[in-house]
Amino acid sequence: MAWYPNASKMELQPESDDQPAIRPTQLIFHSIAAAWTPRRTYEFWRDSTNLESHFGVGYDGSTAQYIGTETRADANYLANRRGDGSGAVSVETASNDDASDPWTPAQVRTLIEIGVWMHQHHGIPLRICRSHDDPGFGFHRLYSPWADGGTDCPGDARVAQFYGEVFPGIVAAANGQTPTTTDPKGDDMPYTRAEYSGDTLTLERNTWTPVEINGADLYPGAQSYSGTVYLTLTTPSGIVIQGRFYHQAEDGRRWDGPIIERIATSGSSFVDFTHAGFVSSGESVRFEMTSSEDATVTARRVAGLYWK
Ligand SMILES: [Zn+2]
Repeated sequence: MAWYPNASKMELQPESDDQPAIRPTQLIFHSIAAAWTPRRTYEFWRDSTNLESHFGVGYDGSTAQYIGTETRADANYLANRRGDGSGAVSVETASNDDASDPWTPAQVRTLIEIGVWMHQHHGIPLRICRSHDDPGFGFHRLYSPWADGGTDCPGDARVAQFYGEVFPGIVAAANGQTPTTTDPKGDDMPYTRAEYSGDTLTLERNTWTPVEINGADLYPGAQSYSGTVYLTLTTPSGIVIQGRFYHQAEDGRRWDGPIIERIATSGSSFVDFTHAGFVSSGESVRFEMTSSEDATVTARRVAGLYWK
């Protein structure tokens, strides 16, 4: 039985004594769909249900541990304990009732600290689980065998934070670093980005329509980028097309880039929109467009360079 020294110990019985041992190989993050303190979560596990987690983390970053990390807890369905004795350690986190809000900065800090401890104490490898039984870090909805009947847990905003802040933070802290920003001199070699989609997209006149190109984020993981969106479209008559890049933050806020105008003639036309920008942590780079008359996009492409 192992207990994380920075958590308040609130041991759940009889589960803690009765449930079988595990060899912890994974750490899985959840949202509990309730704005609960770690103590309130403990009372819920004790009094109302036996689908307990190992840890609970409140909005203020305070944390409690209910079950030793070498004992099975029951929040992760088939990952709780596998036939080979390996199992997942689970972390529930306070959230709003529909688990749509992001983790607070204090929660992110605590999740990183728990992750580092799991790496150092139990040897959880510093990677995102590559399959449902692969050792590493994950979030509840990442693999269906982790959730009986499926789940959205921990919610879109927190999934983005897992990829953008929590997991990179665990890696950086475990390696003795604090997260760094891009060297402003730009010494690093850029990555290239080239994506194409032949899916059609219908534009309703005078309506801003998001344009995804194999995913909403045009430059995943970028801290800065420079590139172009190319569109082929058909229109019944000559029209004006407007397009703009924008940056979408996890909490719903967005930054809009300048509007770029293009003329499209009747029949098939080819238009392009270029932008360069800097991306804050947790933001994704997106593109949207509107046209003066109904039109159909028949092909889309994004090509450019970006820096992580
Ligand atoms: Zn969950």
